[in-house]
Amino acid sequence: MSKPRLALYWAASCGGCEIAVLDVEEQILAVAEFFDIVFWPCAMDFKYKDVEAMPDASIDLCLFNGAIRTSENESMARLLRRKSKLLVAFGSCAMDGCIPGLANLTTREEIVRFTYQDSPSTANAAGVRPQPRCEVPEGELEIPEFYESVRTLGQVVPTDYFMPGCPPQPPQILAVLSAVMQGAPLPPRGSVIGAGEKTCCDECGRVRKEKHLKHFYRPWEIEPKPDECLLDQGLICMGPATRSGCGALCIKANVPCRGCYGAAPNVADQGAKMISALSSVIDSQDPGEINWILDQIPDPVGTFYRFSVPVSILHRKQTV
Ligand code: SF4
Ligand code: SF4
Repeated sequence: MSKPRLALYWAASCGGCEIAVLDVEEQILAVAEFFDIVFWPCAMDFKYKDVEAMPDASIDLCLFNGAIRTSENESMARLLRRKSKLLVAFGSCAMDGCIPGLANLTTREEIVRFTYQDSPSTANAAGVRPQPRCEVPEGELEIPEFYESVRTLGQVVPTDYFMPGCPPQPPQILAVLSAVMQGAPLPPRGSVIGAGEKTCCDECGRVRKEKHLKHFYRPWEIEPKPDECLLDQGLICMGPATRSGCGALCIKANVPCRGCYGAAPNVADQGAKMISALSSVIDSQDPGEINWILDQIPDPVGTFYRFSVPVSILHRKQTV
């Protein structure tokens, strides 16, 4: 009997999601035994033409990590959508845009100009920039087009499931793969899988009290008490706005949650939810003092929207 066919692909991301797959440790052998791995460029030498030659819907499960930054990312997303029965946005970049999505706070022109002309380590007096196509003696060279905005997988192709995390935690990856391998009933299409249905605060064991915040700290400014809520101690912890599922991993290491599991269930905009949560605990009625307290947050967008700019209500910095 032929095995189910599995594909893994890496678009605009750091590669951490691929490492997280290997972090299921020896269970990867059971995964490799169960599936026929038909495409995994990070681990084995496959060519895109190998995928193009596959019949449509012949891949049973495709774990697609990474955002859509370039035309290559988009064409692979469309190709793998066509070839896959189940396409999973695997990890925060594919699901929410994540760190690559922070580029939506600037423009393609600003990124290209800094990278190829203005950065202190660049010597490019002629201002040469990469072109999507150029002629060389051997023929025409083509490189992917760099898009104006970063998009998520679900903003480009219909996506069956969404698995959050930067990266998804190995026990969650294993739980999802095991469910598929055991033939468990699949949740409705469009569901978030490999995560919880509550907030990160709900799986955090720290003691909380009524919050009255007058001062915010950067993580390096204080050594937080190990048992008390980090937000109560003045550290911005994204737990109230973030989906559960990681086991409050960072908080157990005495580090605030940065929000990598994305918006909590039924929350449309993770950053807006966190701003709303904070606005109710700032301990002042005086506008001047409120501004002084808020000024202690040096990078509000990078703090509240670190993982979710492309799926936020604004999607990107608006330029008119
Ligand atoms: S804000 Fe952070 S530290 Fe406080 S309860 Fe929520 S997850 Fe835990
Ligand atoms: S605690 Fe927050 S930032 Fe850390 S792994 Fe969990 S969701 Fe991600």
